[in-house]
Amino acid sequence: MSARDRGQCLRRIAQAIGPIAEELGRVETKDTGKLVRETTWQARNLVEVYDYYAGLADKLQGDLPPTPPGSPLAMVVREPLGVVAAIVPWNSQLHLAAMKIAPALAAGNTIVVKASEDASAAMLKFAEALQAAEVPPGVVNIVTGRGTPCGETLVSHPLARRVSFTGGVETARKIIPATAENVAMMSLELGGKSPVIVFDDAELDSAINGVTAAIFGASGQSCAAGSRLLLQKGIYEAMVERLVERSRRIRIGDPLDPRTHMGPLATGSQRERIETLLEKALGEGGVLLAGGARPPELDKGFYFQPTIVAFDEQSSDLVRRELFGPVLSVLRFSDESEAVAMARDSDYAFAGGVFSRDFARAYRVARALPAGRVWVNTYRTTSVMVPFGGAKHSGYGREGGMEAVRDYTQTKGIFVEVSGKPVSDPFVMR
Ligand code: NAD
Repeated sequence: MSARDRGQCLRRIAQAIGPIAEELGRVETKDTGKLVRETTWQARNLVEVYDYYAGLADKLQGDLPPTPPGSPLAMVVREPLGVVAAIVPWNSQLHLAAMKIAPALAAGNTIVVKASEDASAAMLKFAEALQAAEVPPGVVNIVTGRGTPCGETLVSHPLARRVSFTGGVETARKIIPATAENVAMMSLELGGKSPVIVFDDAELDSAINGVTAAIFGASGQSCAAGSRLLLQKGIYEAMVERLVERSRRIRIGDPLDPRTHMGPLATGSQRERIETLLEKALGEGGVLLAGGARPPELDKGFYFQPTIVAFDEQSSDLVRRELFGPVLSVLRFSDESEAVAMARDSDYAFAGGVFSRDFARAYRVARALPAGRVWVNTYRTTSVMVPFGGAKHSGYGREGGMEAVRDYTQTKGIFVEVSGKPVSDPFVMR
């Protein structure tokens, strides 16, 4: 397909999503328990993602490096990779799939997306938009199935030249060797244990809302969740008191009810894992400040209260491991260098937050974090135009922004002798 045709195809997908966006949101909520307010917003936002990459499809171009006069003409062309194998997790699945499908198609690839076995319905509903958009057969393929054998077969298939994975680090550790046989290119968007640092000079009302959004938004089931809160000693007591009070005002309940603030966890096993880790942490010196249990008024569904636990040090598994739930660990620091050292002391490096009125300091700290995304005096804001992704055990590669299209291509350098001169004798040095 020509680049222009690919752009138009993506534009048609964007247009086909509009009329079914509300339905997509509802289906995703029923499948995952994520708030309908959030899923419908995300479904409507898919239009922007597909539009953005539609606009980039015909902006991708090669290069003519300035090699010396008289030498063969050198060209750098960009070519698609072929078939992309994409694996997505259950949370924000339509959005995460779009961040792979749209740039992969803009660059001229085809893609096979494996939906999450925990929530496949929204991806199948999305397939209706692909049909309405008349995407040529075989260009976007959606398959359902478990990691083994479905995902495994996909990522180890010889035709999959590029694997794009979003999910947990334990799964990534299985996928990395599975791509070895075919030497497939790969990007990994994994989990996090992201620090949010609040300095004494922060605007506290704003920090309270930012921290609440960071950990209790989407019931903490976000790769970018701010699950480690580092508070400077001067505001520690005030912030903790206000956060606890704020957490008690969070309305937990039916995710289809637009008045609900926090829905359930997606799976029962996830809730049990959190409960086990929490119990262990409380036996190891963690102090429970809020929540810590299933809400007694909700006996159906995998609900868990917004939970805050204070620690003196970062040794507990609750502070070090990704929980993917509404559990915040709180720690105290004295000065900037201690805050940075504590924030960096993690296997993960996905995101981070800094709250301070001192912009120079906030900028210094943002630069000192190894994460792929840092928010200053805000949290959770995002845009398809800004690259997203982690470092260390949070993965590698970036999604979003213009680079993502290049990431689904490879360059080819071509030298062409244009002078008409015959190739000279290779054994005669000039
Ligand atoms: P998961 O790792 O359990 O599963 C993710 C996907 O991998 C699923 O589709 C699953 O079927 C598949 N899978 C499992 N084993 C496989 C194998 N051997 N080969 C191929 N595929 C296999 O993750 P989850 O529980 O669905 O989602 C939560 C995780 O995803 C969290 O760790 C979260 O941080 C991460 N996540 C990351 C981002 C990001 O952008 N970085 C976004 C959302 C979620």
